[in-house]
Amino acid sequence: MNAVSPIPKRIVIKVGSALLVDRKTGLKRAWLDALCADIDMLRARGSEVLLVSSGAIALGRGKLGLPNRILKLEESQAAAATGQILLSRAYSEALGQYGHHCGQVLLTLGDTEERRRYINARETISTLLRLGVVPIVNENDTVATSEIRYGDNDRLAARVATMIAADLLILLSDVDGFYSGIPGKDANAKRFDSVEEITPEIEAMAGDAGTELSRGGMVTKLEAGKIATSAGTAMVITSGKAMNPVQKLFEGGDATWFQAKDNPVTARKKWISGQIEMTGGLVIDNGAEKALNSGKSLLPAGVVSVQGEFSRGDVVRVCSEAGEMLGCGIVSYDATDAARIAGCRSDKVQEILGFEARGAMIHRDNLVIRTNTPRHGPETEFSDA
Ligand code: GLU
Repeated sequence: MNAVSPIPKRIVIKVGSALLVDRKTGLKRAWLDALCADIDMLRARGSEVLLVSSGAIALGRGKLGLPNRILKLEESQAAAATGQILLSRAYSEALGQYGHHCGQVLLTLGDTEERRRYINARETISTLLRLGVVPIVNENDTVATSEIRYGDNDRLAARVATMIAADLLILLSDVDGFYSGIPGKDANAKRFDSVEEITPEIEAMAGDAGTELSRGGMVTKLEAGKIATSAGTAMVITSGKAMNPVQKLFEGGDATWFQAKDNPVTARKKWISGQIEMTGGLVIDNGAEKALNSGKSLLPAGVVSVQGEFSRGDVVRVCSEAGEMLGCGIVSYDATDAARIAGCRSDKVQEILGFEARGAMIHRDNLVIRTNTPRHGPETEFSDA
């Protein structure tokens, strides 16, 4: 494969336990240092990087000398508590050598699947990225119970990648891509360089969950692929066994690339325009309408009134004063706060609300404005404002 150019802007890297932890000797520090060198290289080229790292339970069980059998839930929770702190320290030291800060983010299933918690987690992670910090994410295994947990970091990484509208999710694995059969066992098994779409035929090649280990956990990797690519994030599976695996990947190393049909913003806008049930709306003035038509965000100052009930993160209608539906978008405030700041200049918003303002009423990336006539009716087209 050819070298990858340009390198994507926002990248999530998922690291599996087997790459990081040796059962006998513990943390593979030299490998981790080399991974951090890769992250430094990406940062130097202008990319933002978020790491989803496994290894807490594996590290903790070694440290605590827990027996070599399947652990009870509370034992693995204790192992995770012990291992996570070691893992974070190692990343903090290794990234620190390159002058990078990192921040630990432990998530549970509810943090990515319940809207309010999702928005909070996204704001925190986005702020870390804006501040130039490398977020190090793992599942919060210490409190996650067996019924309410991801259990695998492939899908967690995919959800986090879509949450922050990443351009690329890299799954570092113990195999160098997705194969049509079991590598080593099936003589005809060949690695795909690229997968356009994860079809049922492709899924059938991954085997079933029962054969997970022999297939490099391909079932959850394809599930991760479906989550990522449908939200506009491309995914790549490559081997992390050698040193500097990310550098090798971008130099054209062996891998399987899963294409995303849209970019993350377009995918999100398609989702927004597909929303049918909107419980509330914002009426905006002429000036704001002009601003929206030229691709700007909707600011509180342009809002004349608030209709109905909605929570922060809901999709709401955007209407003109004449009652014409102009579009819709994900609103940054609930209906009560939106009504309090409607018509106010942005610099007054914090004073009124008593907390730091989130800026736009609806950010341009979360806004879909109708363009073509007729401006009413289901066939109306939406522009990528
Ligand atoms: N969260 C687990 C850990 O840190 C790993 C899950 C996985 O291997 O995917 O040990």
